[in-house]
This record gives sequence, structure tokens and C-alpha cells, in this order.
Amino acid sequence: MTGAARHRVADLLGAETEPEVFSASRTAPGGDLRLEVRGVGPIELPVSEAQARPLCQVGRPARYGRGELTLLDRAVRDTWEIWLASLPRLTAACQKTGEAGTAAARILLHDAWRRVSTSIDAVLEQPSPSRRTRSLSELTGLVAALVESLSQIGAADLLHQVVASLCRDDEHLVDLAVGILRATPAAVWSAAGLDRVAAHCPAALTSRLARPARAPGNWSMQLPAGCRCDLCVELGAFLADPAATSIDWPLAQDRRAHLHHRIDTAELPVTHQTRRRGRPYTLVLTKTDALFELDRQARARNQADLGWLQRRQG
Ligand SMILES: [Zn+2]
Repeated sequence: MTGAARHRVADLLGAETEPEVFSASRTAPGGDLRLEVRGVGPIELPVSEAQARPLCQVGRPARYGRGELTLLDRAVRDTWEIWLASLPRLTAACQKTGEAGTAAARILLHDAWRRVSTSIDAVLEQPSPSRRTRSLSELTGLVAALVESLSQIGAADLLHQVVASLCRDDEHLVDLAVGILRATPAAVWSAAGLDRVAAHCPAALTSRLARPARAPGNWSMQLPAGCRCDLCVELGAFLADPAATSIDWPLAQDRRAHLHHRIDTAELPVTHQTRRRGRPYTLVLTKTDALFELDRQARARNQADLGWLQRRQG
């Protein structure tokens, strides 16, 4: 291989065909659009000077562009993207070139872990359950590839960081951890430090399964944290009531929109319809049967994961 280093890397990875792309796009009716920034609260538009300061403090540079829509001036910055799933091949190729190649791979993997770790934290904070599940499953292969590469070069300190991160106490992290274990042959768990992850997961799954199964007729559900306004307190009380299945709620348009937003973001099994009679119109919230099915599916998944782990560990 000849030419610039990036061309040689491109040749090396030429056979890869499935890039992972971190991007998202969403549309919503204008009336439903609200802007709330964690650490600052609901944003009034136009942004006031008082809100601009805290906004600047929580701001970070955008990390991902929008493909061809992203402006790229190669005279200023000329970079390519390496797919994380290619890391084991790239690491192996670097290693073959000797000590310098292994050191280069180590730098690359360190940077890859820094980025993946930030992505994991962002996904764990994602309020939408389906998007969180999808993103965690996308991350599974990437972290597994990273663990394989780190194991290849014997980067024990970085592996330790990955394992410690996967063993943190977090409601949703166990799903990622089990996915990585499933994606990695059990024969290499020990060398990669994943046996510690495998030992950690059963407790998290058992504690999920220890919660009582949903009894028939128990319509209680939890409104995830996010807003503590009077409306949300009232919404939370309706949702938590095991006997209440429907509520008629006369509310002005912006207050109805706030509740739509809260229910839709959390993907709660609750329909919201507006009865357009009288003033203000009435918001009709109705809990749906999906509540029971979602609960059943989650328990079955946790049970299957726990059984699989226990069989693997003999
Ligand atoms: Zn609220």
C-alpha cells in the first residue's frame, strides 16, 4: 500500500459495507413544539439575556453532522470517519506493523472509547424508551468491537474503564451489558474482563424481576421525571391511580399541548384526544391495554437474559 496514511487506512477498510451513523431527524406540528434544556428549564423565544447566559454554559459543540448536508471545506479540515465495527481489523493491521503500530492503535482505541462512552451516557438520558432501546442496541456491536480490539492489544487499563462503566448502577445499562456479552464469545470473556460484567448483570436483572408482576386490573403507571409543574403532578396522580383508566380534563390549548408532549415523550400507553365542545376544550386521556403487554414482554426478556447468563456461568 502506498500514498497518504488515510488512503492506506481506506484500502484496509475497503471491504466494510455497513457504516453506523449517529444521526436523528424528527418532525412535529408547530403547536407541539417546546424547547426545554436540561439544567436551564423551559426556553422562552426569543431567548432573553437572562436565559442566554446559562444556555451558553451548558452548550457544547455539535459532534455529528448531517451527511452531505454538512458543510465541509477540505482546505480547512480533511477528515474521514472510521466505522467502529472495523476496529478489530484495523487494530490487527496496526499490530502487525510492530510496536509503533500497536501504540497508534492504542491512541485510536482510547479516542474511540471516549466517544462511545459519551454516546452511552447520552443514550441513557434519552427519555423516549423506544429510541433509547434502539440506540442501546446500535451501541452494542460498537462496544463489543471495541472490547475485542482492546483485548487484542492487551490494553488492560482501558478494558477496566469499559467494564467499570458497564457495571455502573443504572436502570437501563444492564440491557447494553447483556447485549455485549451476547455479542462476545464466552471463551474470551475472561481475557476481556467481561466475566466481571457477566457477574454483575444477574443482580440487576433479578432486582427487575423481583418487582411484583402487574396484577390484572392494575392500571397504575409511573410518569418519568422531567417536569414538576401542577399539571404534571395531576397527570402523575391520574397515571399512578391503579383504578383510574380515563380522565376528562378541560384545559386551554397550551396546557393540553404540554400534556401531549409529556405522554408522547415517555411513550406511555395512554391515548389523548381533544373533545372540541365548550370552552376550554376537554382533553380525554385513556390508558390502553398495551400497559399489560409491555410489562409482560419486559419480564419475559429479563427472564430470558437471566436464564441465558446463568447457563453460561454454569
Ligand atoms: Zn409539566
